[in-house]
Amino acid sequence: MTDKNLRLEGIYPQRQKEFFMQRVKLPAGIISADQALKVAQLAGRYARGVVHLTTRGSIELHWLTEPDLPVVAAQLAQVGLYNRGACGGAVRGVICGSLGAAGAPALEALVRKIHRHFTGNPRFEKLPKKFKIGVEADTSSKRHLIQDLAFVPAPSDEGRRYDVYAAGGLGREPVPGFLLAQGVAEEAILPLIERVLVEYEANTPPPKRLKFLVGQIGQEEFRRRVLGEELEELPLPAPTLTGSLVPVPAAAEDRLEAHVFAGELAADGLAALADIAARFCGGMLMVTGDQTVVLHLVQGSVREEARKALAQAGFADESAAERVVFRVCPGNHECIMGLAATRDVAAAVVAELGGEALQLTWAISGCPNCCAQPQLAQAGIVASRLVADQAGRAPRFDLYRAGDGPFAEPVQQGLNLTELLDAVKKI
Ligand code: SF4
Repeated sequence: MTDKNLRLEGIYPQRQKEFFMQRVKLPAGIISADQALKVAQLAGRYARGVVHLTTRGSIELHWLTEPDLPVVAAQLAQVGLYNRGACGGAVRGVICGSLGAAGAPALEALVRKIHRHFTGNPRFEKLPKKFKIGVEADTSSKRHLIQDLAFVPAPSDEGRRYDVYAAGGLGREPVPGFLLAQGVAEEAILPLIERVLVEYEANTPPPKRLKFLVGQIGQEEFRRRVLGEELEELPLPAPTLTGSLVPVPAAAEDRLEAHVFAGELAADGLAALADIAARFCGGMLMVTGDQTVVLHLVQGSVREEARKALAQAGFADESAAERVVFRVCPGNHECIMGLAATRDVAAAVVAELGGEALQLTWAISGCPNCCAQPQLAQAGIVASRLVADQAGRAPRFDLYRAGDGPFAEPVQQGLNLTELLDAVKKI
């Protein structure tokens, strides 16, 4: 299989040449207990007993050899996990960070509708680069600003309507998404996404994102091209489940969260969470954009029993350091692009943080691609370059802090590790 085709199947070559990563594409981060158990079994057998939770609510299996790939893909497919478009120039996994919010079932159903329409759709598998879509209950997380297209419910008396944000993205040149349209009817969303994709594919040189096209032609011209004529209804895709897959928690305490440091979850831990989900949480788990696993209780009466099971599984989260939100990409542990050992740096940073700093949201990316979304954290770290020193080539880090703008900005740049640790100690 060519490199391009591998990517379309959700597979990237790993930094360590003979190994590969398989990304498992989960719409809205939702995975059933049976599926999670299968992923845990595959991780135990093929992926050194660990899975990586991504900041887009997907799961990655690293350390697969070439002969493992078809076996793993077939076993994932047996439990309904298809990874087409999880990497490469396609519509990636659709995220939804709001499944605990009011109206969550409608958001969930919209995510599934988009996922079903574009996953494996050959019309949209040769895009100039990845295309990211998100559905959020509101704009508080700012995640709507980093998608190629994002949908946020708008107040309406006439059916479900959404405000649409377009052309956001992070990476070396972060651009916040702009408000493309207000109050778009849900029925018009698939045609709108199609028009945007057609426009993007026809007019953008690879490997540029949609933000490049909009930067070239301007927001108004882009709006005219994709909204110019009335949006027609497309034939509906295969019937979409309209009920909620994930129980909607009756009370805040009915939401359980397993914090997973640096997104590295042991296969045993995932299997234990699958078991808790099956027993108490309607058989469903959610991988969140903060690389945690969330479970919603079906009945509040089992709260204590479920919490005890969570603690027994190793997710007691007793200290602030265990609970800290710290998004971490694989960095040079596994990623070809990585400039720094992100998990090690994150652990060293957490060891330096005082009580207040542990309350902040943190993120570290192993290169300027910014997969861990450091610009959305209250304190972010980016390994920005390598420089020669006595030990060979060592990373330099930029420290970001959130301010008044849409994204956190660098406040200190070019720090070595010692300088970085000194800087975070003062936060
Ligand atoms: S930010 Fe860079 S190092 Fe980290 S996962 Fe993305 S590409 Fe790899």
